[in-house]
Amino acid sequence: MTNRQLDRREFLNWTIPAGIGLCSCFGCRTTPITQRRQLLLVPESQEVQMGVAAYEEVKTKNKISTNAKYKEVVDRVGQRLAAAAKQQNLGTNFDWEFVVIADQTQNAFCLPGGKVAFYEGILPVCQNEAGVAVVMSHEISHALARHGGERMSQQLQVEGAGKILQAVVKKKAADKEEVFMTAYNAGAKYGFVLPYSRKHESEADEMGIHIMSQAGYDPSEAPKFWERFASAKSGDAPPEFASTHPSDASRAAALKALLPKALEEYQAAPTKHGVGVPIA
Ligand SMILES: [Zn+2]
Repeated sequence: MTNRQLDRREFLNWTIPAGIGLCSCFGCRTTPITQRRQLLLVPESQEVQMGVAAYEEVKTKNKISTNAKYKEVVDRVGQRLAAAAKQQNLGTNFDWEFVVIADQTQNAFCLPGGKVAFYEGILPVCQNEAGVAVVMSHEISHALARHGGERMSQQLQVEGAGKILQAVVKKKAADKEEVFMTAYNAGAKYGFVLPYSRKHESEADEMGIHIMSQAGYDPSEAPKFWERFASAKSGDAPPEFASTHPSDASRAAALKALLPKALEEYQAAPTKHGVGVPIA
């Protein structure tokens, strides 16, 4: 069985109670901020439950960073972004948590439920708090917009109703956390990776730059981060941050186009942090 098949089957086993059919109106919603209609066949409560379980596994299987500065900055930026999201009535059901993993991979992710992980390797590229806010606001936007759930739902649609019923009947045990992490693009270390689409990436960029601005971080750091990242990339391309993304040049250009509105939101933010403290 390929991982791709496993991914679908396990997902079906979790989420589709027998007897539920797919109709055209079931599970549709509109994304926050970008207002795009999306198909979601997984209850959010279940996504959050799986996210929390997967995060526990991440924390158990990886070495947690002992770098106090990294931890402090990631926590502070995280709390501010979470507060800004809450003001927009986003992620109100999340129990936010932030962790730094002792690993030189240049990557980061956020699982449903607001479970954020940064790898040490991405932090020098961030350079300062605003750079951390660029990366984190992008990642939390994937979770707030439920991109992973949408991707799984798209797979379900492709499979068709017949296969779904088949899968419901054939329940098989497997490493659910791993499959879920895969669906959420949480890292090459967790096996087969299905990339977010470019549409999801652009949407996470757009949502992210607004959230960081509202949190009081200078949004002009967003295109600057991607320009730095383009020249800093090294080693294996991590799934979230390199291989599937639009070219860094094109995303930097798209972010520049979003800057005027983001700068207005930044000016209106109750407290401005500029670029925050540098990361040594
Ligand atoms: Zn992304």
